[in-house]
Amino acid sequence: MTLLELDNIVVEFPTRRGPLEAVKGLSLELNEGQILGLVGESGAGKSITGAAITGLIEPPGLIRSGQVRLRGQRIDNLAPEKMRRIRGKEIGAIFQDPLTSLNPVYTVGEQLIDTMRVHLGLDHKAARKRAIDWLAEVGIPAPEARLDQYPHQFSGGMRQRVVIALALCAEPKLIIADEPTTALDVSVQAQILALLKRLCRENGTAVILVTHDMGVIAETADRVAVMYAGRLVEIGDVAQVIQDPLHPYTKGLMNSIPQIGNRDARLTQIEGAMPGLRNPAPGCAFAPRCPQAIDTCRTLRPIPVDAGSGQVACHLFGEAQ
Ligand code: SF4
Repeated sequence: MTLLELDNIVVEFPTRRGPLEAVKGLSLELNEGQILGLVGESGAGKSITGAAITGLIEPPGLIRSGQVRLRGQRIDNLAPEKMRRIRGKEIGAIFQDPLTSLNPVYTVGEQLIDTMRVHLGLDHKAARKRAIDWLAEVGIPAPEARLDQYPHQFSGGMRQRVVIALALCAEPKLIIADEPTTALDVSVQAQILALLKRLCRENGTAVILVTHDMGVIAETADRVAVMYAGRLVEIGDVAQVIQDPLHPYTKGLMNSIPQIGNRDARLTQIEGAMPGLRNPAPGCAFAPRCPQAIDTCRTLRPIPVDAGSGQVACHLFGEAQ
C-alpha cells in the first residue's frame, strides 16, 4: 500500500542572481514498510528531497510546485505547527550527526520519555519503562543506568543508536535517514545499518535512506532511486539496479565501487563534475560526462520511462521531451 507520494515537486531557493532549483520535478512513491535508498553525489538534491518531505526546507527556500502526500493526505502545504506534529508522530528523522538530533541539556531518558508522552499519550511511568526497553532494543548496555545520562556521555555509535530509538519510539510510519552512518567508524556503520533495518522491518516502518554510498544501499534497501542534478535518473529494485544498472550515470557509480574478491578489477571514475544548478543547459544534465551521449542528448531532456524494474530517464531508453 502506498505510504508516500512525491508528485512533481520543485524545490527552489531564491538568490540574488535569480531562483535556483535544487530539485526539479521529482516524482516517486514509497510503499508501507519499504526501504528506499536515495543515492547520488553531493548537490544531486537528495538531502533537499528529504527536507522537503519532513517540512524542513530552510526559508527562503520553498517547495515551489508539486505535492507531497502521506497516506493520500497532502502535507507540503500544512501550517508549521501541524507539520511539527506530523514530524514527530508520523515521520521520524535520523541525521548524519546524532548531536543535531539530541538536546545536550536533557538526559537521553528525558528526551525519549517526553517524545512518547507527547506522541503516544503515555504517563511518565509507562514512558520511562518503554524508554528503557528502547535503549535495550537498540543495544545500549545497562539501559536503566544509561537512561539518566546526557548525550555527551555516549560514544558516536551509541549516540546514533539513541537517535534511532528516539526516531522510532513515537511509532512513525516513515523514517527519513540522511547519511545516518557517514560520521561513524566503518566497524560501527554495519551494526547501525543492520539495527535500523531490523527495527524498521519489525515495526513496519518505511525508510528513505539518503546516502552517497551504493554499498550502504546494497546492504539495506529494497529499492533505489538515483538522483543527478536535481532530477531522478533511475529507480528500480535494488538487485536489478546494482547488478544491471540501465542509466549511464548509475553504471558509472557502480563501476566506481571496489569488488570484493576481484583484486585485479580496476576502479573507474566518472570524469568531470556535476553541472551547477543555475542556468541549466538544455538537454540531459549528464551529457558532458556521459560516454554514451548522442546528439539528441545535448538538446532534449529525457523523461523517465518504464524500464527494468522501475524507470529510467535516458534517451537510450525512451522518447525525448
Ligand atoms: Fe547519456 Fe544521453 Fe542518456 Fe543522458 S540521455 S545519460 S547523455 S545517453
